[in-house]
Amino acid sequence: MNASDLPRSVPFFDFPGLFREHEREYAEVMRCTAAKGGFILQTDVVEFEDRLARFVGARHAIGVSDCTNAMTLGFRAMGLKPGDEVVIPSHTFLATAQAIHFAGGIVVPVELLPDGTVDPADMERAITPRTRALMPVQVNGRICDMDAIADIARRHLLPIVEDAAQALGATYKGRCAGTFGAWGSFSFYPSKLLGCFGDGGALVTDDDEIARLVRAMRNHGANEHKVLGGEAEVWGTNSRLDNIHAAILNHKFPLLPAHLERRREIARRYAAAFADLDELTLPPGPDGDADRYDCFQNYEIESPRRDQLKAYLAANGVGTIIQWGGTAVHQFRRLGFTQHLPRTDRFFERCLLLPMNHLLDDSAVAHVCVMVRRFHGRDA
Ligand SMILES: *Cc1c(COP(=O)(O)O)cnc(C)c1O
Repeated sequence: MNASDLPRSVPFFDFPGLFREHEREYAEVMRCTAAKGGFILQTDVVEFEDRLARFVGARHAIGVSDCTNAMTLGFRAMGLKPGDEVVIPSHTFLATAQAIHFAGGIVVPVELLPDGTVDPADMERAITPRTRALMPVQVNGRICDMDAIADIARRHLLPIVEDAAQALGATYKGRCAGTFGAWGSFSFYPSKLLGCFGDGGALVTDDDEIARLVRAMRNHGANEHKVLGGEAEVWGTNSRLDNIHAAILNHKFPLLPAHLERRREIARRYAAAFADLDELTLPPGPDGDADRYDCFQNYEIESPRRDQLKAYLAANGVGTIIQWGGTAVHQFRRLGFTQHLPRTDRFFERCLLLPMNHLLDDSAVAHVCVMVRRFHGRDA
């Protein structure tokens, strides 16, 4: 391929492209759903919950307005009390911490491993008599070392809960993200692995009681027959997955496995193109670990010249992002965090997300590869 074949611009994420991809079908799904008046908690939500539960291998899935609320309700359903501590990686979206805080708990952020997932040994060091749960985050579509975390949880008699917002379809030793603990949560934010055209989320669980409570709490405390008058037994809120979003998600769900495979193929291309760039630290490749199926919500690299690399790529039409706005959870000092996490601090000075999604065609991927190589003084 010669340079003139390459696109000049590869946005980090092409939001209009997400709709344009199957525009007529999506418009028809929305039209049909709206025409039948299917707006709130109709059959499309039920169908989506069944699909999701079957896909991940959980007894229950409950559609919720977004992942942040799914986590908040999950904590409330398991009876998190004021002062209860929950251990999380600092390398996560502040939303993980917000859910704990809003449910009354105290957030305890800890260090990461070189692959970006939480360090189980640091999780264990953070356990105190007030610890109420361990919460791994399956960041970038890669599942944490769940054997190590499960072992710690067993020894300390603590439940695991999972923020699997970035990992729908990822597996570890044959088990899906979201199913390793008392509950797991997913996000259907447009740029997530399975994205809808707005906010959306879900909680999955094998626990009948947690499922019953979350189902009630997302809908003002009403029971499954949607009766409220005099019947509410828990304080609820409005945190429902919109029925039109559920209809779109049902339509997109069959495409998910191919989209994950495309992401893995792009990861393979990046890994091959950057293999000789010693300055870069790459994420584990898709084929390196027989125990894991990583689904590459993100391709997160580390560079000692991260800011120059980002600027160079921007000048050459390649959109990149520094995850979470470049701030780890423990670095939000004004929210009261005081932890000292030097490995996470260093990671956040170096990390960068390259374009990674199923909408990227081969020429877009090649353009990213060429520009990253050029920055390092290498010919394509
Ligand atoms: C996207 C994301 C969330 C938040 O999901 P919403 O659906 O936007 O609430 C939480 N945690 C992680 C790790 C995420 O990537």
